Amino acid sequence: MFEAVPTLLETLVFGRSIERRYKFAPLIKPGLVRRVQQAEFQDTVRWAGQRSSFYRERFQALGIDPRGVRRPADLGDFYTTSADLRARETEDFVCATAQAGFETTGTTARNKRVYFSNEEIRDIGFEGAVGLWNLGLRPEDRVVDAFDYAFWNAGITLLYSLNAIGCFHVIASKLPPEDFYERVKDYRFNVLIVDTAWLVSLTEIAEQRGVWPVKFIMAGSENMAEATRQWIEKVWRAKVYQAYGQTESLGATGVECPAQNGYHLNEVNFQFEILNPNAEGYGELVFTTLTRRVMPLIRYRSNDITRFADEPCGCRLSCMRRIGKIVGRGDEIISCGMGMISPWIFETWFGGAAGLADDWQVAVTQPGPRDVLELRLELQANGDPEALRTELMQRLETQFPYYHKNLKMGLYELRFRFLPRGELRPSGPRRKLRRVVDERLPVGAGVQV
Ligand SMILES: [Zn+2]
Repeated sequence: MFEAVPTLLETLVFGRSIERRYKFAPLIKPGLVRRVQQAEFQDTVRWAGQRSSFYRERFQALGIDPRGVRRPADLGDFYTTSADLRARETEDFVCATAQAGFETTGTTARNKRVYFSNEEIRDIGFEGAVGLWNLGLRPEDRVVDAFDYAFWNAGITLLYSLNAIGCFHVIASKLPPEDFYERVKDYRFNVLIVDTAWLVSLTEIAEQRGVWPVKFIMAGSENMAEATRQWIEKVWRAKVYQAYGQTESLGATGVECPAQNGYHLNEVNFQFEILNPNAEGYGELVFTTLTRRVMPLIRYRSNDITRFADEPCGCRLSCMRRIGKIVGRGDEIISCGMGMISPWIFETWFGGAAGLADDWQVAVTQPGPRDVLELRLELQANGDPEALRTELMQRLETQFPYYHKNLKMGLYELRFRFLPRGELRPSGPRRKLRRVVDERLPVGAGVQV
């Protein structure tokens, strides 16, 4: 029966028209969004508390009466984590008949499963369509989608978005970039929606053999370094936009706007919080699903560190708040001889260095008494390892004097390991590469995401 019930926010304000939503979006007041979210939040907590054995048990154990919960803070320090999704059977979270299922990829053998109704996918697809419209996608455009479809939601959600817009599209799926290039060039696709790491390989081919006219490229599934984005935009002579999301949220919870300065959040389907923000506002992004009946998630810890972006972007979707770039994973902040380190530090340190390919990983190891940071760096085909090493050491001294000082003091050692392309990402581009890993821990003792 829920398939017949559109979300409250849509009913009250927007209607099911992308153009109408886009046209009237600047009139939406944040206060209205908050009020609707609060009503849906209460409803979701009650629904899950009644029908999900996981939430029922946890609420009882913590003395939480779902009927008295009005806002996230009323749940105290209760959160749902990825460890909960792994530890419990998926059915313990399911509250209504599922029609579709997807899996998360991660670093462990057991993938998390998340279930949905078709209507829930359509809902998220519609929000994605509004975001794509904001970037300039129109029914007359021609889109090719190169997402991986196996057990993964991104392509299905996108399909619903493209159906909502009604543009011509082809699902190429994740072909080898070489095959893709040869096969699609005659179609005159002017919008490419692709996986981030895969786009790098495609762009290398296009740089050699030529590009075709492209309106914009949307890259999903992983954070792209700004230097990489600038190179891809130069080759294609087109803007490259990014989306942010997880399988648990059914794809994009946020999408960039023309300003390319943060992701507009989908506040129609989710309520967001930043957990334990530091002085600059950075903390872990937490979301509650507001419109899902099959497998609602309450205060789900994304494990991604970001902050709400305050500066105006000037686009029509400004009523939907933005978050900044993801600066790290919650469990990738590591204390070691170098200091407190996170992927953000290395992205800044390595960004744009000559000869360095897109993928790298930093491992904290401890072969002797001292921490050793092993920099695993994939080289471009013509990359010179010695020149890269020299450049990075100079950058460390000028950009991060604190970490350089710790090195001079012998608090840690640096080791460079240069690798051919593709070495670090064994299972294909859509697996998230862990940028910083702590290998001092005994096997199996690390936090798994
Ligand atoms: Zn904007």
